[in-house]
Amino acid sequence: MILDMFSLKEKVAVVTGARTGLGQGMAAGLAEAGADMVIVNHSPMPETEKMIKALGRKCLPIEAELSDISIIPEIIEKVLKEFGRIDILVNNAGIIRRAHSLDFSEKDWDDVINLNLKSVFFLSQAVAKVMMKQRGGKIINIASMLSFQGGILVPSYAASKGGVASLTKTLANEWAKYNINVNAIAPGYMETNNTEAIRGDEERYKSISERIPAGRWGLPEDLKGAVVFLASKASDYVTGHILCVDGGWLAR
Ligand code: NAD
Repeated sequence: MILDMFSLKEKVAVVTGARTGLGQGMAAGLAEAGADMVIVNHSPMPETEKMIKALGRKCLPIEAELSDISIIPEIIEKVLKEFGRIDILVNNAGIIRRAHSLDFSEKDWDDVINLNLKSVFFLSQAVAKVMMKQRGGKIINIASMLSFQGGILVPSYAASKGGVASLTKTLANEWAKYNINVNAIAPGYMETNNTEAIRGDEERYKSISERIPAGRWGLPEDLKGAVVFLASKASDYVTGHILCVDGGWLAR
């Protein structure tokens, strides 16, 4: 039956950047749909772990600084030791740095690109090798409105998210033959730490809010439906797609 196609029972999902915000919301959504969870973050995630366990799912928290890709083999080893498989990977961890492009530092460029783009590629590569052996899996990258638009004062972030959109399509092309779906979710303007600075700027907050057709900023819960769809059998013939969850922002 159709609702069974959305079930993630007996699946194992890995979500990066699950301590707060969208990663925490998506981890809760995947657990609600039945998945056992691996949550990865550079700092502890007690709240997310508690949420998942309260839903009756298993939860393996892994503390890992993802901007250094040498940590990836250790992450894979821990997941396989605990669960023996990986069905779903959500590449969510990301940061943003704001400054004028004329003054933008190499550090602000490298920090953002290393986490938002380089680690997404190499973690996907490592997980895809596991998924190939299992004859399939679902990889979901977190893109952005800035996969399509330039943004203001965020050159490394916009470059990283443009890269995430392109990477999603190239990996989808290459790995479809292994039954690995690679898609992305592009959130609109969401109320999380990532947007704290622009929400603190009254004028910017007002102008963004007025431009969102849905009339409100998004919340982590707003991604639950999209992530469960892309993680489940219901989306088996969807790959290389960037699903915008933006309250209509891009349609405007
Ligand atoms: P957030 O800051 O609440 O979440 C980021 C998560 O990544 C946190 O749990 C943080 O601890 C973790 N993290 C940061 N650096 C890390 C590192 N080096 N290693 C491991 N984990 C690390 O913000 P968010 O808005 O929930 O961001 C999640 C994703 O959504 C990001 O990729 C962001 O670019 C993207 N996004 C956010 C918005 C928005 O409006 N909030 C819009 C589009 C895309």
